[in-house]
Amino acid sequence: MGTTVPNDKTGEILLIDTHAHLDDPKFDEDRAELIDRAFSEAGLKSIITVGCWKAVSGFGSVMSIAESNKDIYAALGVHPHDAAETVGFTGRDPFELMREIALSNKKLVGIGETGLDYHYMHSPKNIQRELFIRHIALARELNLPLIVHSREANEETMDILEAEGVHNGVLHCFSGDMEMAKRALDLGLYISISGVVTFKKAEEMHEVVSHVPIERMLVETDSPYLAPVPKRGKRNEPSFVRYTAAMVAELKGLSEQDVARITTLNAENLFGIGPNYNGKESEKKAKIAYKIRNSLYLNITNRCSNHCTFCAKFRSYTVKGHFLRLSEEPTADELMDAIGADPASRFDEIVFCGYGEPLIRIDIVKEVGEKLKEMGCSIRIDTDGLANLYHGRNVLPELHFVDTISVSLNAPDSDAYLSIIKSPYKENAYPAILFFLREAKKHIAKVVASAVSVPGIDMEATRVVAEDELGVPFRVREYNEVG
Ligand code: SF4
Repeated sequence: MGTTVPNDKTGEILLIDTHAHLDDPKFDEDRAELIDRAFSEAGLKSIITVGCWKAVSGFGSVMSIAESNKDIYAALGVHPHDAAETVGFTGRDPFELMREIALSNKKLVGIGETGLDYHYMHSPKNIQRELFIRHIALARELNLPLIVHSREANEETMDILEAEGVHNGVLHCFSGDMEMAKRALDLGLYISISGVVTFKKAEEMHEVVSHVPIERMLVETDSPYLAPVPKRGKRNEPSFVRYTAAMVAELKGLSEQDVARITTLNAENLFGIGPNYNGKESEKKAKIAYKIRNSLYLNITNRCSNHCTFCAKFRSYTVKGHFLRLSEEPTADELMDAIGADPASRFDEIVFCGYGEPLIRIDIVKEVGEKLKEMGCSIRIDTDGLANLYHGRNVLPELHFVDTISVSLNAPDSDAYLSIIKSPYKENAYPAILFFLREAKKHIAKVVASAVSVPGIDMEATRVVAEDELGVPFRVREYNEVG
């Protein structure tokens, strides 16, 4: 497992530890040093320090720790363990206190951790539930994300989140199964991955990380607890979040830089702490060349004839942390500039993809693609397979410079196809894709049929069409997974 997530000296995008307890007494002796270590050595961009109320000390030093450094933010809540301490408490109500701080201090960016913990049962269940619901109401009132803790109470935690309609928040230190993850994703919640993912025996967690879209994932330490491998058993600290990110990268087949860029953007969106948070997409400049793993993707158009029910661009134009909504379509020269010098040695492949159908601009694909081929690059096109209908001719012979073409087959027959892809070509669309795939085999070395695993579509039957009828390899893309 690598640990090469870059630090700020490289100018690369940095990680955010979305859940640390910097006020914990275990940090009393060297708090300033470990914070310095996190930012200057380990490559962290921000830390969210989570303060848990206690009857004796309220929220203690959490807000002053957040205010001591511009890159530290705070969340406040009453941990389910301490819920019973609020009963009969005669001091300042912790919810009033949270409201007052939130309204006066922008460093407070989340409510929680709150939720249910039936492991130690430090507080009775009914009191935990009551406080959980009060946190939900407060987070909604303040328009702040909810940080949810759940231990041995996953079913009930999800029932409450669903009943209360919680859409803005994160399941911190996620320890549930895929079923719980799906319920959380359906609500629109994020899933935060802790150092537990680095433990060899955490097989269920590995499965969850493999299947949950990285666009909905955060990373955290929950320090000083739960140190990841290779620091397991030691005191945890924010710097160690890099080990968790490295393991997520390995499980997702992404680079560590991909994981840093995407999870950081996710955290900034959720907590509203960066320049890119929700509602500001219109102010951003789209990337025309963007890197995922060691491939360089070219975003040459946002146009496409289809309207796919699963297309993520209808929710957000950000793919794997790259913003792709073009204000103008790039020229060939602009693309070559964005690609830069000697691409063959810098990238495994160049992919015409983006949020649109690249072959709508077939002239640009040919001009840029042929130049890149001469430079020794491997070229891939991801396409909807409808270019022949769009251009009114068989375009495949023109694509001789392409090494790989991945064609969205998406369904085993025309009716199923049209149920998820609103195509202007109607019943002509699916036969045209079958023809396109057959034709592609004559001109392009590697032809792949792909499908997005949309619920209700028979993937096995689609595989049979691809492999048995068309004789091309088949690749399923996870629903909600882009890039
Ligand atoms: S063809 Fe691609 S870009 Fe167009 S709607 Fe479908 S998934 Fe989205």
